[in-house]
Amino acid sequence: MNNNLKNPDYKLSLIVPVYNEEVAITPFLNEINEKLASIRPHIDIVFINDGSKDKTKAVIETAIAEDDSISLINFARNFGKEAAMTAGLNYVKGDAAVILDVDLQDPPELILEFVRLWQTGEYDTVYGVRVDRSQDTFLKRVTAGGFYRFFNFLSAETTLPENVGDFRLIDRCVIEAVKQLPERNRFMKGLLAWSSFRSIGVDFQRPERNVGDTKFNYWKLWNFAMDGFTSFTAWPLRVWGFIGFGISFLSFLFLMYVLISTIFFGVHTPGYASTISVVLFLGGIQLISLGIIGGYISRIYTELKQRPIYLVEGVYGKYSQETQQDS
Ligand code: UDP
Ligand code: MG
Repeated sequence: MNNNLKNPDYKLSLIVPVYNEEVAITPFLNEINEKLASIRPHIDIVFINDGSKDKTKAVIETAIAEDDSISLINFARNFGKEAAMTAGLNYVKGDAAVILDVDLQDPPELILEFVRLWQTGEYDTVYGVRVDRSQDTFLKRVTAGGFYRFFNFLSAETTLPENVGDFRLIDRCVIEAVKQLPERNRFMKGLLAWSSFRSIGVDFQRPERNVGDTKFNYWKLWNFAMDGFTSFTAWPLRVWGFIGFGISFLSFLFLMYVLISTIFFGVHTPGYASTISVVLFLGGIQLISLGIIGGYISRIYTELKQRPIYLVEGVYGKYSQETQQDS
């Protein structure tokens, strides 16, 4: 990777997933041209249109007509941001890529610092760390913080840095590593962390979305978190054996106590409350464990079907001439 230093002609691809962002494209491109003017000749921009229902595609096509460093990968329908990032990584040709949101919540000027650190040859991933999440709602901060702590607690081999989104620069070697990961459930933060060897964070303040609204709701975020857990942990599957063993052992002691007291002191019938609470408690535990097993089985089922991660309707602009790659 040190050859990057000797290669001042590096190429950097920006991967930008967009979903119903017709109003955000033009301000985004203006900001890139202005803030990244000094390295603009190195940059090509790849929009992945994730099945937008508005005029996003037309707006990007207009931009392509004016600027031949822009490409568009147009999905056949909405496949989600994780699929869009996967497609971006499959198509880009740069020596490195930066994943960023179109809504300017990932400040483009930070890319200058990303590139500087990457050019030292010491890091293959440079990610942005949000030092201040006051722009997010309280509920989102609490749930996100809880998610990262719980994830890192459960997942032994992959650690996700806290307060890090998808905004990052990744070297070609990480891109190639991620392309080899065949799974259908794309929890990209995990896959990227798993494939990075030497990474460093850069702090930034996350501004508010400049135009439009967030495209995520809590249902999408919940599913996203579940994909993350099932992709990177097996521990929740195995813990039920221990819990079951513990409960059986305690039940056995209790059974002995009941038998002995019945034999020596006769039969007493009170105990409806204790009986019903034990039954309900165990019923709850069984349902939770079944639900967790179901979560993993549904993941196995999705993997088994081997369906493509996304379907591309067409590729436009810079990359349209080049050979298409599989999803
Ligand atoms: N996005 C996408 N597909 C989706 C949802 C979102 O490609 O199904 C894109 C969206 O257009 C934006 C980025 O992902 O460029 C981040 O989305 P958003 O700003 O809504 O997320 P937030 O910043 O609220 O987490
Ligand atoms: Mg946003």
